[in-house]
Amino acid sequence: MSKLVAFAAIQGAYNIVSKAEGTLKKAIDKFGPDQKIEFPNTAYYLPIIYSILGIPVKTLGDARKPMEVARKLLPAHVKNMYHLPYLGPLLDAGMSALFAEEVAEAIRYLEDPDFYLVSEDIDETSGKIWLGAAEDTVFRKRGVEFVDGTAPGFAAIVGAAPDPETAKWIAEEYQKKNLYVFMCANQNGTTFSEQLLEAGVQIGWNTRLVPFGPDISAAVFALGFANRAAMAFGGIKPGDYKKMLIYNKDRIFAFVNALGEVNAEWAANAAGCVNWGFPTIADTDIPEILPTGVCTYEHVVANVPHREMPQRSIEIRGLKVTVANVDIPLAYGPAFEGERVRKDDLYLEMGGGKTQAVELCSMADMKEIEDGQIEVIGPDIKDIKKGDRLPLGIFVQVAGRQMQEDFEPILERQIHHLINYAQGVMHIGQRDIAWIRVGEQAVNKGFTLKHIGVILHAKLHQDFGAILDKVQVTLYTKKEDVDKLTATARENYKKRDARVEQMTDEGVETYYSCTLCQSFAPNHVCMVSPERTGLCGAYNWMDCKASYEINPTGPNQPVEKGECIDPKLGQWRGVNDFIYKASRQNVTHYNFYSLVHDPMTTCGCCECIAAVISGCNGVMTVGRDYTGETPTGMKFTTLAGVMGGGASSPGFVGHSKYNICQRKFISGDGGLLRMVWMPKGLKDELREGLLKRGEELGYPDLIDRIADETVGVTEDEILPFLKEKDHPALKMEPIIG
Ligand code: SF4
Ligand code: ZN
Repeated sequence: MSKLVAFAAIQGAYNIVSKAEGTLKKAIDKFGPDQKIEFPNTAYYLPIIYSILGIPVKTLGDARKPMEVARKLLPAHVKNMYHLPYLGPLLDAGMSALFAEEVAEAIRYLEDPDFYLVSEDIDETSGKIWLGAAEDTVFRKRGVEFVDGTAPGFAAIVGAAPDPETAKWIAEEYQKKNLYVFMCANQNGTTFSEQLLEAGVQIGWNTRLVPFGPDISAAVFALGFANRAAMAFGGIKPGDYKKMLIYNKDRIFAFVNALGEVNAEWAANAAGCVNWGFPTIADTDIPEILPTGVCTYEHVVANVPHREMPQRSIEIRGLKVTVANVDIPLAYGPAFEGERVRKDDLYLEMGGGKTQAVELCSMADMKEIEDGQIEVIGPDIKDIKKGDRLPLGIFVQVAGRQMQEDFEPILERQIHHLINYAQGVMHIGQRDIAWIRVGEQAVNKGFTLKHIGVILHAKLHQDFGAILDKVQVTLYTKKEDVDKLTATARENYKKRDARVEQMTDEGVETYYSCTLCQSFAPNHVCMVSPERTGLCGAYNWMDCKASYEINPTGPNQPVEKGECIDPKLGQWRGVNDFIYKASRQNVTHYNFYSLVHDPMTTCGCCECIAAVISGCNGVMTVGRDYTGETPTGMKFTTLAGVMGGGASSPGFVGHSKYNICQRKFISGDGGLLRMVWMPKGLKDELREGLLKRGEELGYPDLIDRIADETVGVTEDEILPFLKEKDHPALKMEPIIG
C-alpha cells in the first residue's frame, strides 16, 4: 500500500530539489559564490548536511556540493511505479528533500535576515513569531533537558488543526507530558502556531511550543536540532550518518503529526523523517507504511482522530511518559515553567519588591510536624480582589530518617520550579527576594494559595522520597508573620552560606562523580569536589551528595579520593581508578586544578570554557551567553565544538561560572591571577566574587585589570591594556613551560 505515498514523496522530493536548485542559482548570480551563508549564532554550519554528509557549508558556492548529492539521491523517476520492493528509494528521496530545504532556508536567512527572529521568544507586539534555527544558547540549554530527561522528546507538528481550540488541546496534552512541540508548515495559509496564539496560548522556547516557520521546509530546524544534539552531546562525528541516524532513533523520541491534507512536499519530508526513526501520524486518509528494517513500528499511520492523536503518537513511538500527579485544578509540568503571567491577566502578586515574600525550608523533628498538613495563615485568594497584593511567607518543614541539615537549601531551591510548573502561576527569585504572580485564569479554575502547599508536599515526596518522610507547609500572608519568618530565614541563610564557604577539597575524603551527561557524551565523567563544582553549574558537591542519598544507584557516586598523586595539579589515585572504569577505559587520569596539564574532560553543557592565551601568559574564559569573538580566535560555540565531546583537551577546560571565584580554580596554573580576559557581562555577573577573590590574592582591583571585549578581542589588542594595568599574569612564570 506504500506505493502511492512513495510516489507522492518522490514527486515531492523532485519538486523541492528543483526549486532549491533554482533558488541557489539565483542567489549565486546575485551575491556571488563566496557569499557567506549560515544559521546565525549556531555551530555546525547547516547541521543536517554537515552531520550526514560531513560537508561544512559556509558559502553559497559550498552549497552546490550537497545539492548535487541531493539530485543524485533522487530515485529513478518512473511515472508508473507500481512496485516498490523496499523502502530504500523512499528514504533517499526524503533525505534529498531535506538537504535541499536546508540550503533553501539558509538562503532565506541571507535574502530576508528579519524573517526569523534571533531570540528565544516570539515578539507578539510586532507580530513576528518565527524562530527558525535555535541559536546555540537556546540549543544548549534545551539540549540538556533531553539529557537529564526533563524532556523525553518532541512532537513535530506540520500544518494546522481544524480550529484553534483543537490546536490548544493537542499542544497542552504534549506540554503536560513534558514534550516539546516543534511547529512548521501551513494548511491553506493557516498555521498551528497562529492557532495557538489565537487561543491565548503562549508560544516560544519557554513554553516548549516552538514556532519554527510557516513552510514545510522549516522541518529542517527540528531535524537539525536533533542532529546538533547528537554532535554536541553524543560526540557523533560529522559525516558518520549511520551512527547519527541510529542515535536519533534510539535516543531522541520524536514523531511527526501531520494535520491536514498531505501534499507531495509533506510526504517527502515524512519520508525524510523515517530515516531518523521518527514516524508520522496523520489525521487524514493517507496510505500507511508498515514496519520494515529501519523501525520496528509503523512509519506512517493514517486517520487518527485529533483527540486520540497525542496518546497514539506516544504509543507508536514507544515513549515512556511519566506525569506528575499533583492534586491541583491546574495543568502541571515543566512545559509551563517558562510561561508568564501577563499584566492584564494578573490577579494576585506577592513579593517582587512591592511586598515581602520569603521562602524557607527547614528540617524538623519527626514528632514535631505532621505530614500533609497545609495551612494558610491570613487572607487567601477568596479574600482579595483582582489586582491586589499580599506579602507571603512559605515555610516548608521536612523530616525524615535520611534528612540532613545540608539538604535544606537543595529542597528549598526546588520551590522555584515546582511552583512555576503550575499553569498560570509564575515564580521568580528565591530566598527572601521571591516573587509570585497568580493569573486570573488560574484563579477562575479554582487555584488558591493552599495549592502551593499541595504542590510542594506532593512533589517533594515524589522527587525526594528517599530522604524525607514528612512534609508540612505553612503559608503566611499577614505582614507581621512574614516579617518574622524573614528574620528567621536570613539567619538560616547566613549559617548555610558560611558552611559551604568553609568547605575545602582537603577537608573531605570523598568526592562525587557525575555521569549524567554520558547519555550524550559517552566517555565523559565529571568529578565534583567542594572546590570544583560541576562544569554545567548545576551540581555542587553537596548536591551530588544529596543526589546519591536519594538515589544510591544514580549518576552521582561517592569516590574515595585515595592517595594524592599531585597536590598542586589536583590528582588522586582513587579518582583516577574511578574515571578509568567510568569512562570505559577511555580516560586514565586528569587534573582538577589545571587546564595546561591533562585537564578534566569537558562535555557540551559546560557554562564556560577557559583557554590558554600564551601571548599574554595567561588564560581567558568565556560563557555561552557571550556570542562574540574571543582572543583565542574562536567563539564559544567553536570552542565547544572543538572540545565538547567528553575529551581532555590540554590548553582548554570547561567549568562553571561559580568555579571561577572558587579558591582552587586552575590553581595549578597560577589560579585566578592568570585571568587576562573575560566578557564584560560575565565580569559584571561575578563582580562580588571577583572583588573578594582579588582581595584574598592581594589584588583588590584584579577585576579592573582583566580585559574584556570593550578593550579588544585579540591578543594584540589586549596586551597593551594588560601592560598598562600591570596585570599580575605578565610577571608569572611562563604558562607553557
Ligand atoms: Fe553533566 Fe557534569 Fe553537569 Fe553532571 S556535573 S550534569 S556530568 S556537566
Ligand atoms: Zn554535559
